[in-house]
Amino acid sequence: MLISDHLLLNYKRCSRRTFLEIFGNPQERDPAKDFLLKLKRENQTHMRNVIAARSLKPDQPQASRHDWQLNTKQTVELMQQGVDCIVGGALKVNYAQWLSVRPDVSNLQLTNKQALLAKTTLTAAPSLLIKQSGTSIFGNWEYIPVNIKLGRKPKPEYKLIAAFHAQILAIIQEKIPKRSQLILKEHNSHEIDLAYGLIKMRETVAECLIMLAEQNEPEVFISRQRCSLCNWYGYCHQVAKSTEHLSLIPGITPKRYEYLQSLGVNNIQSLVKISQTRLEETLGYETAHQLKQQISAIKSDRPLVRSNFDLVNIQPIPSSAIELYFDIEAEPERQTDYLLGVLLVDRVNKTEQFHAFMAESLAEEGKIWQEFLDFVALYPDAPIFHYSEYEADTIKRLAKLYDTPRDQKKEILSRLVDLHFWVTKTVIFPVESYSLKSLANWMGFYWRETTGSGDQSVCWYDQWLITQDRALLNLILSYNEDDCRATRCLKDWLLNFLEEQRKQNLE
Ligand code: SF4
Repeated sequence: MLISDHLLLNYKRCSRRTFLEIFGNPQERDPAKDFLLKLKRENQTHMRNVIAARSLKPDQPQASRHDWQLNTKQTVELMQQGVDCIVGGALKVNYAQWLSVRPDVSNLQLTNKQALLAKTTLTAAPSLLIKQSGTSIFGNWEYIPVNIKLGRKPKPEYKLIAAFHAQILAIIQEKIPKRSQLILKEHNSHEIDLAYGLIKMRETVAECLIMLAEQNEPEVFISRQRCSLCNWYGYCHQVAKSTEHLSLIPGITPKRYEYLQSLGVNNIQSLVKISQTRLEETLGYETAHQLKQQISAIKSDRPLVRSNFDLVNIQPIPSSAIELYFDIEAEPERQTDYLLGVLLVDRVNKTEQFHAFMAESLAEEGKIWQEFLDFVALYPDAPIFHYSEYEADTIKRLAKLYDTPRDQKKEILSRLVDLHFWVTKTVIFPVESYSLKSLANWMGFYWRETTGSGDQSVCWYDQWLITQDRALLNLILSYNEDDCRATRCLKDWLLNFLEEQRKQNLE
Protein backbone atom coordinates (compact mmCIF):
# COMPACT_ATOMS: atom_id res chain seq x y z
CA MET A 1 0.00 0.00 0.00
CA LEU A 2 1.31 3.43 -0.96
CA ILE A 3 0.42 6.30 1.38
CA SER A 4 1.26 9.56 -0.32
CA ASP A 5 1.10 13.05 1.15
CA HIS A 6 -1.74 13.70 -1.30
CA LEU A 7 -3.80 10.89 0.24
CA LEU A 8 -3.16 12.32 3.69
CA LEU A 9 -4.18 15.80 2.59
CA ASN A 10 -7.45 14.33 1.35
CA TYR A 11 -7.81 12.36 4.58
CA LYS A 12 -7.77 15.62 6.52
CA ARG A 13 -10.59 16.91 4.31
CA CYS A 14 -12.61 13.67 4.13
CA SER A 15 -11.41 10.31 5.44
CA ARG A 16 -13.84 8.50 3.13
CA ARG A 17 -12.04 9.95 0.13
CA THR A 18 -8.74 8.39 1.20
CA PHE A 19 -10.50 5.08 1.77
CA LEU A 20 -12.06 5.17 -1.69
CA GLU A 21 -8.75 6.10 -3.32
CA ILE A 22 -7.26 2.87 -1.93
CA PHE A 23 -10.18 0.46 -1.94
CA GLY A 24 -12.79 2.08 -4.20
CA ASN A 25 -13.61 0.87 -7.68
CA PRO A 26 -11.77 3.27 -10.04
CA GLN A 27 -14.64 2.91 -12.51
CA GLU A 28 -16.93 4.61 -10.01
CA ARG A 29 -14.81 7.77 -10.08
CA ASP A 30 -16.18 10.82 -11.89
CA PRO A 31 -14.20 11.97 -14.95
CA ALA A 32 -11.46 14.51 -14.19
CA LYS A 33 -12.95 17.98 -13.79
CA ASP A 34 -11.61 20.80 -15.97
CA PHE A 35 -11.63 23.10 -12.98
CA LEU A 36 -9.31 20.82 -11.00
CA LEU A 37 -6.94 20.55 -13.95
CA LYS A 38 -6.96 24.33 -14.16
CA LEU A 39 -6.10 24.60 -10.45
CA LYS A 40 -3.27 22.14 -10.98
CA ARG A 41 -1.85 24.20 -13.84
CA GLU A 42 -2.13 27.39 -11.78
CA ASN A 43 -0.34 25.72 -8.91
CA GLN A 44 2.54 24.80 -11.22
CA THR A 45 2.74 28.36 -12.57
CA HIS A 46 2.68 29.71 -9.03
CA MET A 47 5.53 27.40 -8.12
CA ARG A 48 7.62 28.54 -11.08
CA ASN A 49 6.94 32.18 -10.13
CA VAL A 50 8.03 31.63 -6.53
CA ILE A 51 11.24 29.90 -7.67
CA ALA A 52 12.00 32.73 -10.10
CA ALA A 53 11.19 35.47 -7.56
CA ARG A 54 13.65 33.91 -5.11
CA SER A 55 16.31 33.41 -7.80
CA LEU A 56 16.56 29.72 -6.92
CA LYS A 57 18.38 27.40 -9.32
CA PRO A 58 17.05 24.00 -8.28
CA ASP A 59 18.30 20.62 -9.42
CA GLN A 60 15.70 18.06 -10.45
CA PRO A 61 15.69 14.26 -10.48
CA GLN A 62 15.57 12.98 -14.05
CA ALA A 63 12.72 10.57 -13.32
CA SER A 64 9.29 12.10 -12.94
CA ARG A 65 7.30 11.66 -9.74
CA HIS A 66 5.09 9.13 -11.52
CA ASP A 67 8.12 6.85 -11.56
CA TRP A 68 8.37 7.28 -7.80
CA GLN A 69 10.74 4.37 -7.14
CA LEU A 70 13.44 5.88 -9.38
CA ASN A 71 12.58 9.46 -8.46
CA THR A 72 13.04 8.82 -4.72
CA LYS A 73 16.39 7.14 -5.39
CA GLN A 74 17.61 10.07 -7.52
CA THR A 75 16.36 12.60 -4.95
CA VAL A 76 18.47 10.99 -2.23
CA GLU A 77 21.47 10.94 -4.59
CA LEU A 78 21.07 14.70 -5.13
CA MET A 79 20.92 15.19 -1.35
CA GLN A 80 24.06 13.11 -0.93
CA GLN A 81 25.81 15.34 -3.50
CA GLY A 82 24.75 18.34 -1.42
CA VAL A 83 22.96 20.36 -4.14
CA ASP A 84 21.50 23.65 -2.88
CA CYS A 85 17.91 23.12 -3.87
CA ILE A 86 15.81 20.25 -5.28
CA VAL A 87 12.55 20.62 -7.16
CA GLY A 88 10.26 17.79 -8.31
CA GLY A 89 11.83 15.33 -5.87
CA ALA A 90 10.15 12.71 -3.71
CA LEU A 91 11.05 10.84 -0.54
CA LYS A 92 9.94 7.45 0.72
CA VAL A 93 10.16 5.39 3.86
CA ASN A 94 8.80 1.95 4.57
CA TYR A 95 6.48 1.11 7.41
CA ALA A 96 9.24 -0.29 9.64
CA GLN A 97 11.20 2.97 9.31
CA TRP A 98 8.07 4.95 10.07
CA LEU A 99 7.37 2.84 13.17
CA SER A 100 10.88 3.39 14.45
CA VAL A 101 10.00 7.00 15.20
CA ARG A 102 6.33 6.46 15.90
CA PRO A 103 5.92 4.45 19.08
CA ASP A 104 2.25 5.49 19.30
CA VAL A 105 1.22 2.96 16.68
CA SER A 106 3.94 0.37 17.19
CA ASN A 107 1.60 -1.60 19.43
CA LEU A 108 -0.80 -2.24 16.54
CA GLN A 109 -1.40 -5.94 16.39
CA LEU A 110 -0.76 -6.96 12.83
CA THR A 111 -3.59 -9.35 12.14
CA ASN A 112 -4.06 -10.72 8.66
CA LYS A 113 -5.80 -7.60 7.49
CA GLN A 114 -3.33 -5.31 9.16
CA ALA A 115 -0.50 -7.25 7.61
CA LEU A 116 -0.92 -4.99 4.65
CA LEU A 117 0.58 -2.23 6.79
CA ALA A 118 3.85 -4.17 6.79
CA LYS A 119 3.99 -3.69 3.04
CA THR A 120 3.15 0.00 3.27
CA THR A 121 5.37 2.72 1.86
CA LEU A 122 4.91 6.36 2.80
CA THR A 123 5.89 8.95 0.21
CA ALA A 124 6.37 12.70 0.39
CA ALA A 125 6.70 15.14 -2.48
CA PRO A 126 7.69 18.54 -1.05
CA SER A 127 7.71 21.38 -3.59
CA LEU A 128 11.34 22.08 -2.72
CA LEU A 129 14.10 20.69 -0.55
CA ILE A 130 16.52 23.44 0.46
CA LYS A 131 20.01 22.86 1.78
CA GLN A 132 20.99 24.33 5.15
CA SER A 133 24.19 24.29 7.14
CA GLY A 134 24.15 21.70 9.91
CA THR A 135 24.84 18.02 10.24
CA SER A 136 23.04 15.02 8.88
CA ILE A 137 23.75 11.58 7.50
CA PHE A 138 24.94 13.33 4.34
CA GLY A 139 27.71 15.42 5.97
CA ASN A 140 27.91 19.05 7.07
CA TRP A 141 24.59 19.90 5.58
CA GLU A 142 20.92 19.05 5.93
CA TYR A 143 17.67 19.91 4.16
CA ILE A 144 14.37 21.55 5.03
CA PRO A 145 11.10 20.89 3.14
CA VAL A 146 9.26 23.81 1.51
CA ASN A 147 5.69 23.56 0.25
CA ILE A 148 4.34 26.06 -2.25
CA LYS A 149 0.55 26.32 -2.29
CA LEU A 150 -1.96 28.57 -4.00
CA GLY A 151 -4.11 29.04 -0.88
CA ARG A 152 -4.22 32.36 0.92
CA LYS A 153 -4.12 30.90 4.43
CA PRO A 154 -2.05 28.15 6.07
CA LYS A 155 -4.93 25.66 6.21
CA PRO A 156 -4.76 22.74 8.67
CA GLU A 157 -4.25 20.26 5.81
CA TYR A 158 -1.24 22.25 4.56
CA LYS A 159 0.26 22.20 8.06
CA LEU A 160 -0.33 18.47 8.30
CA ILE A 161 1.53 17.86 5.06
CA ALA A 162 4.37 20.21 6.00
CA ALA A 163 4.86 18.24 9.23
CA PHE A 164 4.58 14.91 7.37
CA HIS A 165 7.31 16.00 4.95
CA ALA A 166 9.49 17.07 7.86
CA GLN A 167 9.04 13.65 9.48
CA ILE A 168 9.91 11.66 6.36
CA LEU A 169 12.89 13.89 5.71
CA ALA A 170 14.00 13.41 9.34
CA ILE A 171 14.02 9.63 8.84
CA ILE A 172 16.05 9.89 5.64
CA GLN A 173 18.63 12.46 6.71
CA GLU A 174 18.59 11.21 10.33
CA LYS A 175 17.99 14.71 11.54
CA ILE A 176 14.76 16.55 12.24
CA PRO A 177 14.77 19.53 9.87
CA LYS A 178 15.26 22.93 11.48
CA ARG A 179 11.93 24.00 10.08
CA SER A 180 9.25 23.24 7.53
CA GLN A 181 8.06 26.12 5.43
CA LEU A 182 4.87 26.99 3.57
CA ILE A 183 4.86 29.58 0.80
CA LEU A 184 1.34 30.77 -0.06
CA LYS A 185 -0.43 32.77 -2.73
CA GLU A 186 1.08 36.19 -2.10
CA HIS A 187 4.52 34.55 -1.79
CA ASN A 188 4.26 34.96 1.96
CA SER A 189 6.12 32.36 4.04
CA HIS A 190 4.81 30.52 7.09
CA GLU A 191 6.92 28.49 9.45
CA ILE A 192 5.24 25.38 10.82
CA ASP A 193 5.46 24.83 14.56
CA LEU A 194 7.07 21.39 14.34
CA ALA A 195 7.08 20.76 18.10
CA TYR A 196 3.29 20.71 18.02
CA GLY A 197 2.78 19.88 14.32
CA LEU A 198 4.72 16.59 14.42
CA ILE A 199 2.65 15.25 17.33
CA LYS A 200 -0.65 16.20 15.68
CA MET A 201 0.51 14.79 12.36
CA ARG A 202 1.55 11.46 13.96
CA GLU A 203 -1.90 11.12 15.50
CA THR A 204 -3.59 11.81 12.16
CA VAL A 205 -1.37 9.38 10.25
CA ALA A 206 -2.00 6.72 12.92
CA GLU A 207 -5.78 7.17 12.57
CA CYS A 208 -5.51 6.99 8.81
CA LEU A 209 -3.37 3.85 8.86
CA ILE A 210 -5.69 2.12 11.31
CA MET A 211 -8.71 2.98 9.17
CA LEU A 212 -6.98 1.53 6.10
CA ALA A 213 -5.56 -1.51 7.87
CA GLU A 214 -8.94 -2.43 9.30
CA GLN A 215 -10.68 -1.46 6.07
CA ASN A 216 -13.23 0.63 7.97
CA GLU A 217 -15.14 2.42 5.24
CA PRO A 218 -16.07 5.86 6.63
CA GLU A 219 -19.72 6.75 6.32
CA VAL A 220 -20.79 8.98 3.48
CA PHE A 221 -21.66 12.57 4.36
CA ILE A 222 -22.59 14.84 1.49
CA SER A 223 -21.51 18.41 2.07
CA ARG A 224 -21.80 20.71 -0.91
CA GLN A 225 -18.72 22.73 -0.07
CA ARG A 226 -16.47 19.72 0.54
CA CYS A 227 -17.85 17.29 -2.04
CA SER A 228 -18.41 19.54 -5.05
CA LEU A 229 -14.84 19.14 -6.34
CA CYS A 230 -14.37 15.53 -5.29
CA ASN A 231 -14.03 12.81 -7.93
CA TRP A 232 -16.15 10.44 -5.88
CA TYR A 233 -19.16 12.74 -5.67
CA GLY A 234 -21.32 10.78 -8.14
CA TYR A 235 -20.67 7.52 -6.34
CA CYS A 236 -21.11 8.96 -2.84
CA HIS A 237 -24.31 10.73 -3.83
CA GLN A 238 -25.69 7.45 -5.12
CA VAL A 239 -24.79 5.74 -1.84
CA ALA A 240 -26.39 8.58 0.15
CA LYS A 241 -29.55 8.36 -1.96
CA SER A 242 -29.86 4.60 -1.63
CA THR A 243 -29.47 4.76 2.15
CA GLU A 244 -31.69 7.87 2.52
CA HIS A 245 -28.77 9.54 4.24
CA LEU A 246 -29.59 12.54 6.37
CA SER A 247 -26.82 14.65 4.84
CA LEU A 248 -29.11 15.01 1.81
CA ILE A 249 -31.47 17.14 3.91
CA PRO A 250 -30.64 20.86 3.76
CA GLY A 251 -29.83 22.14 7.23
CA ILE A 252 -28.23 18.92 8.52
CA THR A 253 -24.65 19.78 9.37
CA PRO A 254 -22.14 17.19 10.68
CA LYS A 255 -22.73 18.53 14.21
CA ARG A 256 -26.51 18.23 13.92
CA TYR A 257 -26.09 14.78 12.42
CA GLU A 258 -24.21 13.74 15.55
CA TYR A 259 -27.04 15.05 17.74
CA LEU A 260 -29.58 13.19 15.62
CA GLN A 261 -27.63 9.96 15.87
CA SER A 262 -27.58 10.31 19.65
CA LEU A 263 -31.40 10.26 19.44
CA GLY A 264 -31.32 7.13 17.30
CA VAL A 265 -32.19 9.06 14.13
CA ASN A 266 -30.02 7.61 11.38
CA ASN A 267 -31.91 8.13 8.15
CA ILE A 268 -34.73 10.07 6.56
CA GLN A 269 -37.36 7.53 7.65
CA SER A 270 -36.40 7.80 11.31
CA LEU A 271 -36.38 11.60 11.08
CA VAL A 272 -39.95 11.42 9.78
CA LYS A 273 -40.95 9.22 12.69
CA ILE A 274 -39.34 11.03 15.62
CA SER A 275 -41.59 13.49 17.43
CA GLN A 276 -40.83 17.18 17.19
CA THR A 277 -40.78 17.45 20.98
CA ARG A 278 -37.89 14.97 21.16
CA LEU A 279 -36.05 16.82 18.43
CA GLU A 280 -36.54 20.13 20.21
CA GLU A 281 -34.90 18.77 23.35
CA THR A 282 -31.62 18.41 21.46
CA LEU A 283 -31.80 20.91 18.61
CA GLY A 284 -34.03 23.68 20.00
CA TYR A 285 -37.43 24.76 18.72
CA GLU A 286 -36.36 26.70 15.61
CA THR A 287 -34.05 24.04 14.13
CA ALA A 288 -36.32 21.13 15.04
CA HIS A 289 -39.31 22.84 13.48
CA GLN A 290 -37.41 23.75 10.34
CA LEU A 291 -36.09 20.20 9.93
CA LYS A 292 -39.55 18.75 10.36
CA GLN A 293 -40.89 21.13 7.72
CA GLN A 294 -38.00 20.30 5.38
CA ILE A 295 -38.54 16.58 5.69
CA SER A 296 -42.24 16.96 5.21
CA ALA A 297 -41.69 19.03 2.02
CA ILE A 298 -39.31 16.38 0.65
CA LYS A 299 -41.57 13.47 1.52
CA SER A 300 -44.62 15.08 -0.09
CA ASP A 301 -42.62 16.72 -2.90
CA ARG A 302 -44.47 19.95 -2.14
CA PRO A 303 -43.11 23.36 -1.17
CA LEU A 304 -44.24 24.83 2.13
CA VAL A 305 -44.39 28.37 3.45
CA ARG A 306 -41.90 28.67 6.30
CA SER A 307 -43.83 28.60 9.52
CA ASN A 308 -42.13 31.76 10.85
CA PHE A 309 -42.95 33.80 7.73
CA ASP A 310 -45.83 36.23 8.08
CA LEU A 311 -47.62 35.84 4.74
CA VAL A 312 -50.22 38.51 5.33
CA ASN A 313 -48.40 41.46 6.81
CA ILE A 314 -45.09 41.42 4.94
CA GLN A 315 -44.55 43.45 1.77
CA PRO A 316 -44.52 41.19 -1.31
CA ILE A 317 -41.44 40.76 -3.49
CA PRO A 318 -41.04 43.97 -5.54
CA SER A 319 -42.48 43.93 -9.07
CA SER A 320 -42.32 46.48 -11.82
CA ALA A 321 -43.20 47.03 -15.48
CA ILE A 322 -39.48 46.76 -16.27
CA GLU A 323 -37.36 44.32 -14.31
CA LEU A 324 -33.68 43.44 -14.57
CA TYR A 325 -32.24 40.01 -13.76
CA PHE A 326 -28.53 40.13 -13.03
CA ASP A 327 -25.82 37.48 -12.86
CA ILE A 328 -22.02 37.70 -12.84
CA GLU A 329 -19.30 35.37 -14.10
CA ALA A 330 -16.08 35.88 -12.20
CA GLU A 331 -12.56 34.53 -12.07
CA PRO A 332 -11.80 34.38 -8.34
CA GLU A 333 -8.14 33.52 -8.84
CA ARG A 334 -7.47 36.73 -10.73
CA GLN A 335 -10.17 38.65 -8.82
CA THR A 336 -11.75 39.66 -12.11
CA ASP A 337 -15.43 39.86 -13.05
CA TYR A 338 -15.49 39.10 -16.77
CA LEU A 339 -19.20 39.01 -17.53
CA LEU A 340 -22.01 41.16 -16.17
CA GLY A 341 -25.16 39.65 -17.66
CA VAL A 342 -28.58 41.32 -17.45
CA LEU A 343 -31.94 40.02 -18.67
CA LEU A 344 -34.31 42.92 -19.29
CA VAL A 345 -37.96 41.91 -18.85
CA ASP A 346 -40.64 44.32 -20.06
CA ARG A 347 -43.83 43.02 -18.48
CA VAL A 348 -46.10 45.54 -20.26
CA ASN A 349 -44.93 44.78 -23.77
CA LYS A 350 -44.21 41.15 -22.86
CA THR A 351 -40.68 41.20 -24.22
CA GLU A 352 -37.34 40.21 -22.84
CA GLN A 353 -33.80 40.75 -24.00
CA PHE A 354 -30.48 39.58 -22.70
CA HIS A 355 -27.64 42.13 -22.46
CA ALA A 356 -24.13 40.88 -21.87
CA PHE A 357 -21.23 43.08 -20.80
CA MET A 358 -18.30 40.83 -21.52
CA ALA A 359 -14.62 41.59 -20.88
CA GLU A 360 -12.80 39.98 -23.78
CA SER A 361 -9.53 40.58 -21.96
CA LEU A 362 -8.81 40.99 -18.25
CA ALA A 363 -8.02 44.67 -18.87
CA GLU A 364 -11.62 45.31 -19.96
CA GLU A 365 -13.21 44.89 -16.55
CA GLY A 366 -13.41 48.67 -16.00
CA LYS A 367 -14.96 49.14 -19.43
CA ILE A 368 -17.75 46.59 -18.88
CA TRP A 369 -18.42 48.02 -15.44
CA GLN A 370 -19.03 51.45 -16.99
CA GLU A 371 -21.23 49.91 -19.72
CA PHE A 372 -23.24 48.12 -17.04
CA LEU A 373 -23.65 51.38 -15.06
CA ASP A 374 -24.84 53.22 -18.19
CA PHE A 375 -27.29 50.44 -18.98
CA VAL A 376 -28.94 50.19 -15.55
CA ALA A 377 -29.16 54.00 -15.45
CA LEU A 378 -31.55 53.78 -18.43
CA TYR A 379 -34.10 52.00 -16.20
CA PRO A 380 -33.90 53.87 -12.89
CA ASP A 381 -37.13 52.37 -11.53
CA ALA A 382 -36.35 48.77 -12.40
CA PRO A 383 -35.58 46.45 -9.51
CA ILE A 384 -32.46 44.33 -10.09
CA PHE A 385 -33.00 40.72 -9.11
CA HIS A 386 -30.10 38.37 -8.40
CA TYR A 387 -29.42 35.19 -6.42
CA SER A 388 -26.81 35.33 -3.58
CA GLU A 389 -24.78 38.09 -1.98
CA TYR A 390 -22.06 37.95 -4.60
CA GLU A 391 -23.68 40.55 -6.89
CA ALA A 392 -23.95 43.16 -4.11
CA ASP A 393 -20.38 42.48 -2.98
CA THR A 394 -19.14 42.80 -6.56
CA ILE A 395 -20.92 46.11 -7.09
CA LYS A 396 -19.19 47.43 -3.98
CA ARG A 397 -15.83 46.08 -5.13
CA LEU A 398 -16.07 47.45 -8.66
CA ALA A 399 -17.40 50.83 -7.49
CA LYS A 400 -14.41 51.19 -5.19
CA LEU A 401 -11.90 49.99 -7.75
CA TYR A 402 -13.16 52.26 -10.54
CA ASP A 403 -14.03 55.32 -8.43
CA THR A 404 -17.77 55.23 -9.09
CA PRO A 405 -19.55 58.16 -7.38
CA ARG A 406 -20.89 57.11 -4.00
CA ASP A 407 -24.47 58.14 -4.76
CA GLN A 408 -24.51 56.11 -7.94
CA LYS A 409 -23.26 53.04 -6.11
CA LYS A 410 -25.85 53.54 -3.34
CA GLU A 411 -28.64 53.97 -5.87
CA ILE A 412 -27.84 50.66 -7.58
CA LEU A 413 -27.44 48.80 -4.30
CA SER A 414 -30.85 50.10 -3.17
CA ARG A 415 -32.45 48.48 -6.25
CA LEU A 416 -31.01 45.02 -5.65
CA VAL A 417 -33.40 42.26 -4.63
CA ASP A 418 -31.61 39.12 -3.44
CA LEU A 419 -33.90 36.19 -4.20
CA HIS A 420 -31.73 33.84 -2.13
CA PHE A 421 -32.64 35.97 0.87
CA TRP A 422 -36.33 35.77 -0.11
CA VAL A 423 -36.20 32.01 -0.62
CA THR A 424 -34.57 31.32 2.73
CA LYS A 425 -37.06 33.61 4.47
CA THR A 426 -40.25 32.35 2.87
CA VAL A 427 -40.36 28.83 1.43
CA ILE A 428 -39.17 25.32 2.26
CA PHE A 429 -38.52 23.55 -1.05
CA PRO A 430 -38.48 19.77 -1.58
CA VAL A 431 -34.84 19.83 -2.69
CA GLU A 432 -31.44 18.68 -1.49
CA SER A 433 -29.84 22.08 -1.94
CA TYR A 434 -30.95 25.69 -2.20
CA SER A 435 -28.61 26.49 -5.08
CA LEU A 436 -30.20 28.36 -7.99
CA LYS A 437 -29.67 25.34 -10.22
CA SER A 438 -31.34 22.94 -7.83
CA LEU A 439 -34.38 25.20 -7.30
CA ALA A 440 -34.78 26.08 -10.97
CA ASN A 441 -34.47 22.40 -12.00
CA TRP A 442 -37.18 21.55 -9.51
CA MET A 443 -39.39 24.18 -11.20
CA GLY A 444 -38.71 22.56 -14.55
CA PHE A 445 -36.11 25.05 -15.83
CA TYR A 446 -33.00 23.52 -17.42
CA TRP A 447 -29.81 25.15 -18.70
CA ARG A 448 -29.02 24.70 -22.38
CA GLU A 449 -25.39 23.96 -21.52
CA THR A 450 -25.80 20.80 -19.48
CA THR A 451 -22.11 20.80 -18.55
CA GLY A 452 -22.25 24.42 -17.40
CA SER A 453 -21.43 25.62 -13.89
CA GLY A 454 -19.69 28.61 -12.34
CA ASP A 455 -16.42 26.64 -12.22
CA GLN A 456 -16.79 25.45 -15.81
CA SER A 457 -17.43 29.01 -16.96
CA VAL A 458 -14.11 30.03 -15.40
CA CYS A 459 -12.39 27.21 -17.33
CA TRP A 460 -14.04 28.30 -20.60
CA TYR A 461 -12.90 31.87 -19.98
CA ASP A 462 -9.38 30.71 -19.19
CA GLN A 463 -9.26 28.78 -22.47
CA TRP A 464 -10.70 31.77 -24.34
CA LEU A 465 -7.84 33.96 -23.07
CA ILE A 466 -5.37 31.42 -24.48
CA THR A 467 -7.08 30.33 -27.71
CA GLN A 468 -9.34 33.31 -28.59
CA ASP A 469 -11.88 30.71 -29.73
CA ARG A 470 -15.23 32.55 -29.83
CA ALA A 471 -17.15 29.31 -29.34
CA LEU A 472 -15.95 29.43 -25.73
CA LEU A 473 -17.33 32.94 -25.22
CA ASN A 474 -20.65 31.74 -26.63
CA LEU A 475 -20.76 28.90 -24.12
CA ILE A 476 -20.20 31.40 -21.30
CA LEU A 477 -22.85 33.76 -22.65
CA SER A 478 -25.40 30.99 -23.00
CA TYR A 479 -24.70 29.74 -19.48
CA ASN A 480 -24.94 33.23 -18.00
CA GLU A 481 -28.11 34.06 -19.91
CA ASP A 482 -29.71 30.91 -18.54
CA ASP A 483 -28.62 31.89 -15.02
CA CYS A 484 -30.51 35.16 -15.52
CA ARG A 485 -33.53 33.33 -16.94
CA ALA A 486 -33.49 30.86 -14.06
CA THR A 487 -33.48 33.81 -11.64
CA ARG A 488 -36.51 35.21 -13.44
CA CYS A 489 -38.25 31.84 -13.34
CA LEU A 490 -37.62 31.65 -9.59
CA LYS A 491 -38.94 35.16 -8.99
CA ASP A 492 -42.15 34.51 -10.95
CA TRP A 493 -42.68 31.22 -9.18
CA LEU A 494 -42.09 32.73 -5.72
CA LEU A 495 -44.42 35.64 -6.35
CA ASN A 496 -47.24 33.39 -7.57
CA PHE A 497 -46.78 30.82 -4.86
CA LEU A 498 -46.72 33.36 -2.02
CA GLU A 499 -49.73 35.19 -3.45
CA GLU A 500 -51.75 31.97 -3.71
CA GLN A 501 -50.78 30.98 -0.19
CA ARG A 502 -51.69 34.44 1.08
CA LYS A 503 -55.13 34.22 -0.50
CA GLN A 504 -55.72 30.77 0.97
CA ASN A 505 -54.69 32.14 4.35
CA LEU A 506 -57.20 34.97 4.14
CA GLU A 507 -60.11 32.75 3.08
S1 SF4 B 1 -17.89 12.95 -2.33
FE1 SF4 B 1 -17.80 13.89 -0.34
S2 SF4 B 1 -18.14 12.20 1.09
FE2 SF4 B 1 -17.60 11.27 -0.86
S3 SF4 B 1 -15.40 10.97 -0.75
FE3 SF4 B 1 -15.74 12.92 -1.75
S4 SF4 B 1 -15.64 14.46 -0.13
FE4 SF4 B 1 -15.92 12.44 0.84
